[in-house]
Amino acid sequence: MTKDYRVLLYYKFVTIDDPETFAKEHLDFCKSLGLKGRILVAEEGLNGTVSGTVEATNKYMETMHEDPRFADMVFKVDEHDGHAFKKMHVRHRKEIVTLRLDEEEYVNPQELTGEMLSPKEWYEAMQRDDVVILDTRNDYEYDLGHFRGAIRPDIETFRELPEWVRKNRHLIEGKKILTYCTGGIRCEKFTGWMIKEGFEDVAQLHGGIVTYGKDPEVQGELWDGKCYVFDERIAVPINRKEHVVVGRDYFDGEPCERYVNCANPECNKQILCSEENEHKYLRGCTHECRVHPNNLYVKEHNLTKEEVEERLAAIGETLEAGA
Ligand SMILES: [Zn+2]
Repeated sequence: MTKDYRVLLYYKFVTIDDPETFAKEHLDFCKSLGLKGRILVAEEGLNGTVSGTVEATNKYMETMHEDPRFADMVFKVDEHDGHAFKKMHVRHRKEIVTLRLDEEEYVNPQELTGEMLSPKEWYEAMQRDDVVILDTRNDYEYDLGHFRGAIRPDIETFRELPEWVRKNRHLIEGKKILTYCTGGIRCEKFTGWMIKEGFEDVAQLHGGIVTYGKDPEVQGELWDGKCYVFDERIAVPINRKEHVVVGRDYFDGEPCERYVNCANPECNKQILCSEENEHKYLRGCTHECRVHPNNLYVKEHNLTKEEVEERLAAIGETLEAGA
C-alpha cells in the first residue's frame, strides 16, 4: 500500500555563511510547500526532519539538491499516512546538534570524524570480539530499542556524553569503538571529539540506525526493539527479520513499546507504559504527578474527585497522602 505522505530525515555538515538569513528564507520556502517539521540551521550546517505530501517532499529534495552546498545530502525517506509534526519551524542555532563544547574542544566534522561503516560493514564489525558498541543517544531512546550488546550511557541529553565518556573510559578503551545514533549526525560530530580525546580506533554507522533498517541486505538484523524518533510516530521498526521487544513498562516491567508523557505538565517525563497502566496510574510517573492539580489525564477524561480517589485507592494511594 502506498501512502500519500513522507517523512524526511536529513542533515549536512557544510558551511552556511549567514545562517540567520538562511533560516528565515528556508522557513518561507518550507511553508510554501506545506511542509511541517523542525530544521536547525547553523554556521556548521543544516539538520532537519519534515513531513509532507509526496509531491511536496519531492520538490523539497529536488530544490535542496540544486544547491551546491546540499547537492549530495542524503534524505532518509519514510512513508507515512499524514503529517508527523504539527508546525513548521526553522531555527537558527549555534550548532545543528548540540554538544556545547567550548571553542578549544570544538571539532568540525568536515575536518575530523570517525571512520564510516556501511550497514554491511557495521553488521560484520559488530560481531567481532575486539569491538565495543557505544550508543550515543539518550537513555530513553536506548530503552525502546538498541543494537544487541551495545553500551547504554545513562545520559538524558547528547551534551552529557563527553563527560560520560571521560568517567567511563575503562568501559571502551583499548578496543575498536563502534558508535551509532538515529540518523548519523550525532556520531559524525561525536567521533571527531573522541579521536581528539585520544581514542584511536573509532568508527560510526554511516546513515545511522534508520539507514541500517532500510538496507536491503542487512535488513536491520541485530537490532532489538524499535527506534525512537523525534516526531509524532515516536517509534519506528528497524529489524525486518525478527522483532524482539526490549522496552519495559515503567509500572510493571512487562514488555512494552508504548511511550507516553507523564500527565503532570511540569514533569512531562517520557515513560513506557501500557494503555491499561496509563488508566490505572492516571498517567502519572509518581504519586505527586498523579495528584498534581494540572494532571492532564484527569482533565482529558473529565474525572471527578471521587473517580480520582477510586483510581488511587486501587493502587493503595489517597488524594491527601501518598503511598
Ligand atoms: Zn511525572
